[in-house]
Amino acid sequence: MRILIVEDEPEIYNFLKQGLEEESYAIDIAEEGKKELELALTGEYDILLLDWMLPGMSGIEIFRQFRKQFKETPVIFLTAKDTLDETIFGLQTGANDYIKKPFHFEELLERIKVQLRPKTGEHSIFKLRNIMLNTSTYQVHKEAEEISLTQKEFALLEYLIRNKGIVCRRSRIIESNPGN
Ligand code: CA
Repeated sequence: MRILIVEDEPEIYNFLKQGLEEESYAIDIAEEGKKELELALTGEYDILLLDWMLPGMSGIEIFRQFRKQFKETPVIFLTAKDTLDETIFGLQTGANDYIKKPFHFEELLERIKVQLRPKTGEHSIFKLRNIMLNTSTYQVHKEAEEISLTQKEFALLEYLIRNKGIVCRRSRIIESNPGN
């Protein structure tokens, strides 16, 4: 799995590069002017980590250009902006997720894994203690008993199980809009 980090702050990209390489990801860094977009558009990446605030072309502009060509590649914004309006705007444009600086490496790593799951061929059954959720058949079992859920309840449960171990704040759940 190859990750492109588009970020102008050496402190942040060096820290990310080191941590992600230890997790066996291949890392490239884009930090300068229009080269960022050129590198992203080579299409060699499985996921982009994209800074919101860049000195040249803005993160959102890079994202827009990138999304025109690569509809499926997940993009996670790294953002110091902390108003809800701006982050919702980022997600409405089709970004897959965002994380606010400063963040814990472990949280970012989990978010990357969530985004990369479909590509790594993970099967569609998720287990949490005695609950089993199947995203192919939309069935939920608690031990042997099948539980009937609405579409929205199913989506919310799937979201929570996929993000297990991560604090899922209400605002983030609402923004990710499971089931809609
Ligand atoms: Ca920046």
